[in-house]
Amino acid sequence: MCATCGCGNDTAAVIGTPPGRNHPAGHDHAHDHNHGPDHEHQHIHGTSADRGHPPATETVELELKVLAKNDELAQRNRAWLAERGIVAFNMTSSPGAGKTSLLERTILESGQEPIAVIEGDQATALDAERIEATGCRVVQINTGAGCHLDADMMYRALRTLDPEPGTLLFVENVGNLVCPALFDLGEQEKVVVISVTEGTDKPLKYPHMFQAAGLVLINKMDLLPYVDFDLGRCREYLAAIHPGIEVLPLSVTSGDGLSRWYDWLAARCGTGAAATLEQADKRA
Ligand code: MG
Repeated sequence: MCATCGCGNDTAAVIGTPPGRNHPAGHDHAHDHNHGPDHEHQHIHGTSADRGHPPATETVELELKVLAKNDELAQRNRAWLAERGIVAFNMTSSPGAGKTSLLERTILESGQEPIAVIEGDQATALDAERIEATGCRVVQINTGAGCHLDADMMYRALRTLDPEPGTLLFVENVGNLVCPALFDLGEQEKVVVISVTEGTDKPLKYPHMFQAAGLVLINKMDLLPYVDFDLGRCREYLAAIHPGIEVLPLSVTSGDGLSRWYDWLAARCGTGAAATLEQADKRA
């Protein structure tokens, strides 16, 4: 759990736009990303009282407080987004599952617009620069030692990003299947991306994330012939962890399956529902 690993309530996050030409207010990367000795990270690692750390009960209480505060801030974000008709998805995965590549293609091919992105990584603006190259509005959050985004970072990033009303907003969380499961950002749904190179048993090993998500994308299906991944068994594990959860196998590289992802987005952004109504009218 998050307070046990010591990553809760990280106030040291740095938020900025990539230093590209479209963002005159770009982050200058001159900030000190090091945590001082009084930073909370220095005080909540571990649970062993005999090493000078708080006992387990204190850790649990701290965790509940951190999560309760986060939930409150997430509700504020949700209201802020709703007022502007912005639909937000919190994209989670292990590092390297293909989130950024998926977003690059989605921005260019899904037909949704406007799209904006909040990028989360411990360090660098590399992903934000990739997203910016598509012409999309983007900000980067660097979490320093933190392993997840939280609702306060999201709140600050939204103000820097200033997305247009009606935007489809993707939040690319830090690559981690543990802590991001616990932190509501105010999104409409969490979307988990796993890939066939990661192993069939991911849903069993990281159940909280798959229980918190509304959709699972299984990426890199083009590599299926070369790896030991059992799609049928993975689906069974997902159904056991989260009955009824939607699962879309796809390949960002080949493009196979992406149209079903775009349809899923369209259905949640109104265009899909409108198209369905239009078809129903024609049939009547
Ligand atoms: Mg990425």
